Amino acid sequence: MSHRCANCGKEHVGFPVWGAALPDSAAEIPAEEREQRVEVDGDICQIDDGTTFVLARLEIPIEGSEEPFRYLPWIELTPEDADLFVTLYQTRERAHLGPLSGRLDNALPGLEEEKGAEVLIYLRNEFQRPLIRSAFVRGGLAEAMRNGFSPERACEIQQSCAKE
Ligand SMILES: [Zn+2]
Repeated sequence: MSHRCANCGKEHVGFPVWGAALPDSAAEIPAEEREQRVEVDGDICQIDDGTTFVLARLEIPIEGSEEPFRYLPWIELTPEDADLFVTLYQTRERAHLGPLSGRLDNALPGLEEEKGAEVLIYLRNEFQRPLIRSAFVRGGLAEAMRNGFSPERACEIQQSCAKE
């Protein structure tokens, strides 16, 4: 099912996945220090003070669409859960463990105020990225995950991402 978008006048067939190259905490480190202080290994990012981030997946439903709006934000894990995730990173069967707790480290386009929100991430098998589930988040993020975006709102967010 598709319809003409009231925002841009085109028909959308799904939306691209938004992903952050680095956790905001790492991106805020001056560029000349970053290479020394930040290490990215696949979906794990560590700052030299020991802070550990993992890339997770977050979905917001879009009204009238089977495809959700997908974000890939970095989550700052608690120290204990960071150790556990690093241990399990190359483990195929891990969905029975966790969930792990952390905080959203990226300002999500359209949900900027949710930066720092506490989340639980669910481990998945076969090396799939961990998933943020709506049942265990609160506030504006939970509301967005429950109510979803209108197609026009998703379009606006996508356009603001494309400008960055
Ligand atoms: Zn549009």
